[in-house]
Amino acid sequence: ANYSALLAENRKLHNEVQELKGNIRVYCRIRPFLRGQKEKQSVVEYIGENGELIIVNPSKQGKEGRRSFKFNKVYNPAATQADVYSDIQPLIQSVLDGYNVCIFAYGQTGSGKTYTMTGPDKATEENWGVNYRALNDIFRISQTRVNTFTFEITVQMMEIYNEQVRDLLSSDGSARKLGIVSTPQPNGLAVPEASMHTVNKTSDVLNLMDIGLRNRHRGSTAMNERSSRSHSVVTIHVRGMDIKSGSSMRSSLHLVDLAGSERVDRSEVTGDRLKEAQHINKSLSALGDVIYALAQKNAHVPYRNSKLTQVLQTSLGGQAKTLMFVQLNPEVGSHSETTSTLKFAERASGVELGAARSSK
Ligand code: ADP
Repeated sequence: ANYSALLAENRKLHNEVQELKGNIRVYCRIRPFLRGQKEKQSVVEYIGENGELIIVNPSKQGKEGRRSFKFNKVYNPAATQADVYSDIQPLIQSVLDGYNVCIFAYGQTGSGKTYTMTGPDKATEENWGVNYRALNDIFRISQTRVNTFTFEITVQMMEIYNEQVRDLLSSDGSARKLGIVSTPQPNGLAVPEASMHTVNKTSDVLNLMDIGLRNRHRGSTAMNERSSRSHSVVTIHVRGMDIKSGSSMRSSLHLVDLAGSERVDRSEVTGDRLKEAQHINKSLSALGDVIYALAQKNAHVPYRNSKLTQVLQTSLGGQAKTLMFVQLNPEVGSHSETTSTLKFAERASGVELGAARSSK
């Protein structure tokens, strides 16, 4: 197929809308095929070097089945955790320069959100996800500045489930329900009731992550089920003081593993499951609306429509830097979910294009 013609056709439009963009960056990561799956059945037809992506629906011929997208970056499925981290490292570094940063992973369950943000189960240092690497890096960089700055680094970990915020690091392990302050406080705390934990070294980080993950699964019989139906938010607060002048700055980094974005067939679920699905749908739409409003530079940004957007308010918009990982499942059976994931990302980034023309 003649991809360059297809892409060139869309490039002009891509460039035009690119200029409308807000501060959000969108990086697309495609999960590799897992053991036992057939590689040739991927919905991903083409990955360009400049963030181009072509998705194909194998059940449709020609232009009908093909759609092109463009993001800030698209990773080859073989990209490692280190590859991905090295691209976002400058963002993490900017937290120590006083910027608020929000990084979140969006996609259907099984598309690799947790892999990107945390890593696989029983991760080794080599396949650590963004959370571990970012925290470690923040220590490392803060150490290089000890002659001029003192830094205090604290961590909160929360879960948002059915529009209720819970503390994943409370000392009694009860995953307490918490309130959110309606307007961001000068100290940047959206959820002041969530317990704060000072971290000084890598092992502190590992301990907290362990506790948080354990609490996240607590009380649910189907472990993975519950964690894919809730948003998890790790917030790293940095307070730096200039030793000479005594002036101080505060910033925060939000690392968010969102609930699975898959649509639930309303005719098939009832009761608690339906309620969960409605809450997830509402909060992901609210997130999309906030990002869209920011990208369009709208005067009104609808932060108040969900707990998720309220918790993240300080790191969405304004001077904050936001990065979304769009996670894709490459399996043919996921084509329709993959397409809706990409449409969400496209709208959020301010880039909306029609179906790709046929490359023939
Ligand atoms: P999600 O959080 O979106 O539900 P997971 O992160 O749990 O998805 O990923 C589903 C499965 O795929 C897990 O077994 C995970 O370890 C694996 N996986 C995801 N992304 C990768 C990757 N880039 N490399 C290797 N395995 C991956």
